[in-house]
Formats: sequence, C-alpha cells, structure tokens
Amino acid sequence: MSAGRHVTVPLLDLTSEVEALYQELREATDRVLRSGTFIGGPEVEAFEAEAADFLGVRHAVGLNSGTDALVIGLEALGVGPGDEVITSAFSFFATSEAVLRLGATPVFCDVDPHTLNLDAGLLEGLVTERTKAIVPVHLFGLPAQMTTVLEVADRHGLTVVEDCAQAFGAHSSELGGRRVGGLGTVGAFSFYPTKNLGAYGDAGLLTTDDDELATAARSLRNHGSSPTDKYRHERLGHNSRLDALQAAILRVKLPLVDDWNRARRSVADAYRASFARAGLVVGTAEGEDARSGLDDARAGLVAPPAHDDHVYHQFTVQVPAARRQRYEDALVAAGIGYSRFYPSALTSQPVGCSFGSAPVAETAAQRVLSLPVRPSLSAGEIDLVTAALAAAV
Ligand SMILES: *Cc1c(COP(=O)(O)O)cnc(C)c1O
Repeated sequence: MSAGRHVTVPLLDLTSEVEALYQELREATDRVLRSGTFIGGPEVEAFEAEAADFLGVRHAVGLNSGTDALVIGLEALGVGPGDEVITSAFSFFATSEAVLRLGATPVFCDVDPHTLNLDAGLLEGLVTERTKAIVPVHLFGLPAQMTTVLEVADRHGLTVVEDCAQAFGAHSSELGGRRVGGLGTVGAFSFYPTKNLGAYGDAGLLTTDDDELATAARSLRNHGSSPTDKYRHERLGHNSRLDALQAAILRVKLPLVDDWNRARRSVADAYRASFARAGLVVGTAEGEDARSGLDDARAGLVAPPAHDDHVYHQFTVQVPAARRQRYEDALVAAGIGYSRFYPSALTSQPVGCSFGSAPVAETAAQRVLSLPVRPSLSAGEIDLVTAALAAAV
C-alpha cells in the first residue's frame, strides 16, 4: 500500500494487542530484566512446560525460530543428503528451505484447490526408496489431512514433521481433537510476531513425544553440547536458544490463544455472512468435488473453507487470476491492507524448485488474497472489506 494513503483497516494491528495486555507484559518483562537471566533459565523452562501441557505433548523445546524448529526436527530425525522429504508445494519458503539446508531434496505434493493444504491423496504416488519424511503444513491455520498423512507414513516407515507455524492451538477433529504438533513425530512452531501466537521478536518451538528426539533437539539448539557436560560437543549444532523475554511474553499470551482462535473463527464466519449479503461468493468448498470446484470458482470470489478446526492465521480468499489486480486496486483505494499469501508456489522459486510440478498450487498463487483477520476485527471493519471487494466486481 502506498505511503501516506489513509489506512482504514490495516492487515495487522499488533500495537492494539500490546496496549490491551500492557500491564501483564510489563510485569513479565520487568521480572525477566530484574532476574538477570536472559537466555534459557526458569522463564524458558516454565514456558516449555506450559506449552507442552497445552499442546498435549511430552516435550516442548524452545528455539530461536520456526525455521530452526523445522531444521532441527529434521536433523534430529537423521534427514540429510540423499534423502527425500515430501512437503506441500504451497507454503512459506522456510518449509522447503529447511529440507534444502540439510542437503536433502524436497519433493512437492500439490495442494487441494480449496484448502490449499497438501492433497493427501497424492502422497502415495510421491514415495520412493529415498523418502525419509513427510512435512505437512497446516496452512493458514487449517490442519492438513493428517489421518491420510499418518497412514501413508506408517505404510512406508516414514516420519512426520508437522509445520505448525500458522496453527498454534488448532485441533484435529479427524484425530480425536488432539492438537497439531502432537499428531506427527515432531511439531515445528513459529512465534514470529504476526503468527496466531506471536512473540515480540523471533522465537520457535519444537514438540515431540519422543524422549530421544527431545534430547537431540536440546543438544542441537546449543552447539551440539552434551546434556551432562556443557563444553563437550558431541555433534555440530546451532545457536538456536529461546530467550527469556520472549518466553515471558509468550507465557502472558498462551492462556489467551484458545479464545483468540475462537474469535478468529467468528471473524471468518462474519466475513462469509458479509460476502453472502453482498452477493460476492459464488463457490465454496463444501460438498463439491475439489477439482470441479476450482473451475466453478473461476467466476468469482471463493472464501476459505468453513471448518471447526481452522484457526485462521490467515483469511485467504481466491479470486479469478485475471481479475485479481482489480480486487487489489479496490482494496488499496479503500485503505484496506491485504497480502498475497503466497505469490508463488515453492515449485516456482528460483531456488529448490525443480523437484516436481504442482499445477494447482501454481494456479492458486495467481488467485490468492489474504484479508485482515484478527480477534478484534469488528463487524464494521469486515463490512468495509466486503464493500471494497464488491466495488471491484
Ligand atoms: C512463519 C513460517 C515458518 C518459519 O517460521 P520463522 O519463525 O519465521 O522462522 C515456517 N513455515 C511456515 C508455514 C510459516 O508460516
């Protein structure tokens, strides 16, 4: 959005969140400042214990970022050169970057045209003798089709590393309501400030029920040092520790995340109702064959799937590729923030792209528009966004 233009509905509004929690945040950060312990220590350990309890996993290991959680998770599982890792063709680059960093090869699975999560029905056809792991991404806050992912993994002896960067707290009703991050072998979370549970700096978390993997991750985050002898280095590691200020901030926010996720779901429902009142939506995911649904959808705007498990880190609509610029111009004219998540599929990146084609993901990249979504978004703001989109039709 061009500088100086009046913003009526920003894409993000982290300052209001800070204002609303200011007293608790102040107390938490003061506690850390006065403790003199800034990396690791009791604040980090308390957050790890609270997060593990919340997510229903045995171990939660605080790290520097979500990217590191993916790298360290895959590394702890022994993924390296020569291995193939199947992942979604439509995600933030960090998902495939983590695989490439380890010298392994990402093999891209195309996505379902409505959910934009990997199309689990395609997984089986991508498994080879070299496949070591599957990395499903719970894109935009919607859990991937984990029942099928886990079945394929079981059948072929693969491990599953969930990319949970956009889905903190999301449940999988397919799997008895367990939370993401506890469904696969390892979960990787990001607390980048804009995520649905965000720190005020970089931070991440690795989850697992496996004691050995947790021990390996704790060693890898700290230069490969021995659990019992800090200055003995048993492997090459990383400097990827969680700092105490971020842990203290996350401890303030963790008890609120279920309410926030519910509020995001209500905002998504309100968007759908507002679109319907304006006559905007022509296609929805429900009850349709996914592929024919995509064709129907080319005529107009498609809302993201309504799903009780969705936590709407992003509320990403799809519009016909040839008309997207018109929608964007209308949003800019009305002062409404938006983004293209994502403007290209991972199969179209200059690096690491050559491992499969993904026509549905590549088409989706031309169609997506992510609109403002946050727990505090008001009905009035939602109607402003709808009016701007309606003006583009
Ligand atoms: C944000 C994100 C990451 C990376 O997390 P960082 O904390 O920014 O390193 C990985 N995967 C997905 C899907 C993300 O959205």
